[in-house]
Amino acid sequence: MSTEQKLHARSNGSCELCESKESLSVYEVPPHSDGNEDETILVCEVCKAQLEKRAALDANHWGCLNTSMWSEVPAVKVVSWRMLSRLKTNSWAADAIDMMYLEEDQLTWARAAGDEEDSGEVEFHKDSNGAILQNGDTVTLIKTLEVKGSQVKANVGVAVRNIRLVHDNVEQIEGKVDGQQIVILTKFVKKS
Ligand SMILES: [Zn+2]
Repeated sequence: MSTEQKLHARSNGSCELCESKESLSVYEVPPHSDGNEDETILVCEVCKAQLEKRAALDANHWGCLNTSMWSEVPAVKVVSWRMLSRLKTNSWAADAIDMMYLEEDQLTWARAAGDEEDSGEVEFHKDSNGAILQNGDTVTLIKTLEVKGSQVKANVGVAVRNIRLVHDNVEQIEGKVDGQQIVILTKFVKKS
């Protein structure tokens, strides 16, 4: 059984945060999920876009956390705690965090994303034109880049496919250029 199938079985085919049955997919819990069912949850696209900070936080969507925070699945509790932390300027979310109980190792895991420091403001990875970048996008270099200590040719106009957003820095993405994975500043790329 694939991870996705296991998650569908665990969640009865619904988003493990808001119980929606629409456009479900696997969310790998940052910072380093190994992709198995213990470190992934099944979520709908509305939840996922906000989890991944691709969409602005909509407090009205997250009343569901009052239920999901009591989940018996540690990964669901951890993600619920992180979202409540991002929403903590809302008194209901602050109250929920106070009521929540996490085991020591779960709390360490929950804090590993740094979201409890989050002001609630969402920052996006944006290209040189201000277009929002997402994992998997293709971008073009708008400047020839020097890659220190390597022979990598990162010339202007080169397309970089399947980029990854650097989790804790909205000014950086990673991508393969000339066969090598490098970090690229978002101000030097244009979304294709
Ligand atoms: Zn959802």
